[in-house]
Amino acid sequence: MLDCIIIGAGVVGCAVARELARYSSSVLVLERFNDVSCGASKANSGIVHAGFDAHPGTRKAFYNVRGAKMYPLLAKELDFPYRRNGAFVLNFSEEGNEKLKELYDQGVKNGVEGNVILSGDEVRKMEPYVSDKVVSALYVPASGIVSPYEATIAFAENAFDNGVKFEFNQTVKDVVKSADGTFTVRTDKGEFCAKTVVNCAGVHSDEINNYVSKTKEKIVARKGEYVLLDKAYGYLAGATLFQLPTAMGKGVLVSPTTHGNIIVGPTADDIDDKDYVDTTYAGLSKAFSQAALSVPSLPRRGIITQFSGNRAHNVTGDFVLGEREDCKGFFNALGVESPGLTSAPAIGQDLAKLVADRLGLKERKDFNGTRKGIKHFATMSDEERVEAIKQNPLYGKVVCRCEVVTEAEIIDAVTRSLGARDMDGIKRRTRAGMGRCQSGFCTPKVMEIVAKYTGVDMTQVTKKGAGSELLTGRKE
Ligand SMILES: Cc1cc2nc3c(=O)[nH]c(=O)nc-3n(C[C@H](O)[C@H](O)[C@H](O)COP(=O)(O)OP(=O)(O)OC[C@H]3O[C@@H](n4cnc5c(N)ncnc54)[C@H](O)[C@@H]3O)c2cc1C
Repeated sequence: MLDCIIIGAGVVGCAVARELARYSSSVLVLERFNDVSCGASKANSGIVHAGFDAHPGTRKAFYNVRGAKMYPLLAKELDFPYRRNGAFVLNFSEEGNEKLKELYDQGVKNGVEGNVILSGDEVRKMEPYVSDKVVSALYVPASGIVSPYEATIAFAENAFDNGVKFEFNQTVKDVVKSADGTFTVRTDKGEFCAKTVVNCAGVHSDEINNYVSKTKEKIVARKGEYVLLDKAYGYLAGATLFQLPTAMGKGVLVSPTTHGNIIVGPTADDIDDKDYVDTTYAGLSKAFSQAALSVPSLPRRGIITQFSGNRAHNVTGDFVLGEREDCKGFFNALGVESPGLTSAPAIGQDLAKLVADRLGLKERKDFNGTRKGIKHFATMSDEERVEAIKQNPLYGKVVCRCEVVTEAEIIDAVTRSLGARDMDGIKRRTRAGMGRCQSGFCTPKVMEIVAKYTGVDMTQVTKKGAGSELLTGRKE
């Protein structure tokens, strides 16, 4: 009998797992995909929102502001990319000035410090590629950017190194509470029993809740499509450039990523199939033309890839967090849409504490809250490169030329705690395949390494789990 089962290995599930690892407990994370961070946590804007946008008094506002403050230290402890780059909310009309002032006041109410309203000319002095049509803007210095999947991987690895177990390719199909108060979690592969359950299943969190609670929930998947620009155009924005928010969310942004690309998007469309993440010509065109209002010189030829992610939109509008009144021992992190990435560390703390209190768990003295990421050749100084190659000659073998990723890094990505099992896992951990050629050149070599170090035949290497094999067979 486990102390706790966490359903879902996105940023919220992994943050809860890491926080629970601070207590003497047996914890298992169940995830339906092949890896952590395969849902919304891998496909979002990567903004650590300062907290001016959420309505005062909501859980979104509370957790946003608290989570944002945790990121700088977490990024150091867990060694993932984060940068406080600031943000502007651009306004294009005289009428918009009032809305901008409302956002400013909302920020003050939420406890966000340092925001100022600037004129269009002041904005263009700081961000020269911003449109001449911008009349004014709210400047938000506390806004930041993070690599969302690397943060999630870091939480997960640290949880794992502190004893949390992970089971992948396990789709939860039912949760049943027994008369003795314990839970049986049924997956497509088997059954797991625990004293408590934490539901972090993203767009499917309503279904998990509805298995056990009489208080029914409804999550609508709200799709957001993006294009990503080559690093060569990274000069176009230093800060994150939002537009005034709409009823559907924060609107389309233009932002640098932590790795120097420019991200453009997202759209916001409610969809029926919660797992539908194909991009569309219409969606991408909409995102691009809307973003061009902020930065008119955005070049279409600079686009290197596109992707989309689905927000877990709770129809009541706020996060649902905590223990279910009618089902003691069952905890929700439900409807965690934006600013969920920002909020995740704080949500993780509170949910772990609730579980620990319910079970009377004791804090451990041997918890190690630090983790070292993969050493990236691309970001090393010349001296560091010489030293790295001396220590491990495979640092001298570049596999991905666009992103300058070496064989040593790819082997590390496979062999470390909760190592990558497929090509997308390698990509998210090392950036091999994330550059201009989008893995056109490095795929065969990366496949060879994955096959060798995971102990499978090349024909079994997948892009993202079963059904996405890259080769159809061997030519005899
Ligand atoms: C377009 C878009 C833009 C966003 N931009 C931002 C932003 O800039 N800043 C910000 O703070 N937030 C942003 N967000 C929100 C943020 O991405 C989410 O709040 C956060 O990633 C949610 O994390 P999660 O762990 O709850 O969900 P997910 O990452 O979706 O994880 C849920 C996990 O549960 C698993 N799962 C589901 N059902 C089952 C089952 N039955 N059995 C087993 N496993 C299951 C899934 O496979 C998945 O891995 C954005 C979201 C989107 C979609």
